[in-house]
Amino acid sequence: VDPLVLPGTDELRERALAALRRCGVTTAGHTGDTGDTITVRTPITGADLFDIPAADTRDVAAAIDAAHEAFGRWRMVPAPARGALVKRFGELVGRHRADLADLIGIEVGKIRSEALGEVQEMIDICDLAVGLSRQLTGRTMPSERPGHRLMETWHPLGVVGVISAFNFPAAVWSWNVALATVCGNTMVWKPSPRAVLTATACTALFDRAAADVGAPANLNVLVIASAADAAVLVDSPRVPLVSATGSQAMGERIAPRVAARFGRVILELGGNNAAVVTPSADLDLTTRAVVFAAVGTAGQRCTTLRRLIVHESIADEVAARLRAAYARLPIGDPFTESTLVGPLIDGQAHQSMARALRQAVADGGTILTGGDRRPTGTSAFYVEPVLVRMPAQTAIVRAETFAPILYLLTYRTLDEAIALHNDVPQGLSSSIFTTDQREAERFLAADGSDCGLVNVNIGTSGAEIGGAFGGEKATGGGREAGSDAWRAYMRRATNTINYSGALPLAQHIDFA
Ligand code: NAD
Repeated sequence: VDPLVLPGTDELRERALAALRRCGVTTAGHTGDTGDTITVRTPITGADLFDIPAADTRDVAAAIDAAHEAFGRWRMVPAPARGALVKRFGELVGRHRADLADLIGIEVGKIRSEALGEVQEMIDICDLAVGLSRQLTGRTMPSERPGHRLMETWHPLGVVGVISAFNFPAAVWSWNVALATVCGNTMVWKPSPRAVLTATACTALFDRAAADVGAPANLNVLVIASAADAAVLVDSPRVPLVSATGSQAMGERIAPRVAARFGRVILELGGNNAAVVTPSADLDLTTRAVVFAAVGTAGQRCTTLRRLIVHESIADEVAARLRAAYARLPIGDPFTESTLVGPLIDGQAHQSMARALRQAVADGGTILTGGDRRPTGTSAFYVEPVLVRMPAQTAIVRAETFAPILYLLTYRTLDEAIALHNDVPQGLSSSIFTTDQREAERFLAADGSDCGLVNVNIGTSGAEIGGAFGGEKATGGGREAGSDAWRAYMRRATNTINYSGALPLAQHIDFA
């Protein structure tokens, strides 16, 4: 196999700096000579780009103070006026679409179309939040007492601490910032150390939008900090909500600490998403959907399809179709228009992939296709997506390995398929491919898929922002983006108003 042709690191560095400058970031590439730094690396060539200054615990504490101070003013700005900021931000994101996609490509290795899709998702959530800024509605209920009104009001909550993962470096923050901002909150954002340039550019655009509409400063304070230094954010009683996206291990560490101070969390943790393929499935559509869901973003989406549960009567045919599709996958430079599979984020990701494959084979699995690392002459990790036929859902299949491995399992009855489907710790996304309405409805029913996202004839990944996004069980239970996810960013006050002149007590209590 010929080595992949990749762009040079110098070219990528220049491209990143140019995109940053256009977004209004002037400091990148000029490391201050004091304090901690974080090294920015590109998975495209595996090389370091430059160092940027990092925050320490005191900086994180100062960021919380600044955001808290801004909250005092921001919460009194009418919600539709807060929406005007998000509207302006969405316009700026649209104008800098290519710049943000460049940074996402350089830092995370997303192919162009997926990087642009991530930016589109930012614009979409801004649109949703702008509409929402006039619809943060509470209910009015009938009071049991004459001359009384019973209603609820939704108020801003305070500083939202946002911790984000590397694989959606801009979109997940934008879900939070768009909703939190119209809800009257301010934010402290700790991005993944592997995606700090995108975070810096997003923050610069948000700050510019705030200045353009005359909003206060420090509505979204960026802290480029290590996980250890971010502990201040997790533990601060001045941060009533921590919205954290990342691995189950991260959730296990932070959730008990936030709970110990009675803070709230929105947890968006790992997935181990499956699709059931029934004998009536349209196999052309199924194959296309499965390949995108299993291989997109090189298997590094929380919603990536990791398990395919196929009826035994069609398993050989499904495997053959997938092998043929996998053999044609263009792997390589994510900036090349025809590429569908870019690099893994780093060597550690490659090690976990290799470890998982060794374990799967030791468990009796057969690798049907893929698994090799493509030569590049660099320390980047481009791998062939893998299809592994498994005799059973062993421990390694039940774990999330953040790489393009698809395990193929077979079933006889739909009950068996659903049991296998649900028998994993995670509960994020799920699909059934069928043209039998009874099977589809069963999968959607209370005794069907136990996930937060349950789809029919569409893959597990690629959700729209209009619905609430998130999952059950070890995925953490959080919901973000559309539907009524905004309520998690506000506090509810129940109001009883007596306009009667008398004082009747509820439940007919006589206290005279
Ligand atoms: P990660 O857990 O390594 O890191 C996520 C973020 O948490 C980073 O910013 C990291 O610095 C921070 N962090 C880790 N430990 C912390 C601690 N103790 N205190 C404070 N911050 C801490 O995850 P990753 O490798 O960046 O992302 C991949 C993981 O994220 C996968 O498991 C994937 O499924 C999950 N993910 C979930 C969703 C979702 O919506 N459910 C979306 C994207 C990614």
